Amino acid sequence: VKQAGRNGIAFFDPEMEARVRQRHALQLALAQAIDGGGLQLYLQPQVDARGHTVGAEALLRWPQPGGRFVSPAEFIPLAEESGLILPLGAWVLEHTATLLARWQTEPALARLRLAVNVSPRQFREADFVDRVAEVLRRHRLPAQHLELEITESVFLGDLEEARRTLQRLKALGVTLALDDFGTGYSSLSYLAELPFDVIKIDQHFVARLPQRRRADLAIVSTIIALGRKLGTTVLAEGVETAEQAEYLVTHGCHLLQGYHFGRPMPIESFERGLGAA
Ligand code: C2E
Ligand code: CA
Ligand code: CA
Ligand code: CA
Repeated sequence: VKQAGRNGIAFFDPEMEARVRQRHALQLALAQAIDGGGLQLYLQPQVDARGHTVGAEALLRWPQPGGRFVSPAEFIPLAEESGLILPLGAWVLEHTATLLARWQTEPALARLRLAVNVSPRQFREADFVDRVAEVLRRHRLPAQHLELEITESVFLGDLEEARRTLQRLKALGVTLALDDFGTGYSSLSYLAELPFDVIKIDQHFVARLPQRRRADLAIVSTIIALGRKLGTTVLAEGVETAEQAEYLVTHGCHLLQGYHFGRPMPIESFERGLGAA
């Protein structure tokens, strides 16, 4: 691999070579972590307007020796690229289903929803819906307690195909959430036409609320109003302050998620916080 790259950048550039090696090492380590029990799910509470926990989002954590974590923001893109996202996504689905099944026997937890992130590549797999159906069946789960968070990027490809997949998932009874709404390729027509139960206002907009710029306030209040008119539950993520929470609730936002209510935490901490055994 010593030819010049596409832009005339030599690939033997030692820095670039080091980066390629590092990515490769990270991919190998991730593959081992998936198989060898090296991954964990953390849970972040989702609360209603009164601050009562109604569910949680499952977020992957990859602990390293020495107590450090590799952030999912770092390894999810790598997993997408390498195809590892498929075994990884399967691992997440299986573990959330196992957890939900256990919650069904715990009065303090049985009514909670558990949201999982679905990567675009995972969503586009031909057998994705069948896998979800199989997991629901095998664990005897109330389907609506499993929430799938999907980003708008799945609509960049074949929109009709994406619509069919969503409708098949909807038919299973699972809850569908549109993640990171307002970023990237947002289109209001997605909201109106597609069977989402929840829209998640991206944390980027929430973070800007305290600056009280008219444009930001207008965007947030408009998303909430639109969601409500369409009969969709509106959730704001990245809520860090009481002031943000109050603005959102006052404008009719149904659900909130963010450091103000709880950081992503180990499963046991989340369960203990709700008074479960
Ligand atoms: P996301 O789905 O948008 O998740 C929200 C991110 O915001 C999480 O970062 C969460 O820890 C963080 N967050 C929550 N509350 C606050 C807050 O109040 N302030 C700020 N500044 N941040 C907050 P995290 O856990 O590092 O995950 C990053 C991204 O990695 C996620 O973004 C998601 O896209 C992806 N990801 C995480 N777990 C999974 C997974 O199991 N599967 C897939 N496909 N992607 C995942
Ligand atoms: Ca998410
Ligand atoms: Ca999000
Ligand atoms: Ca995001």
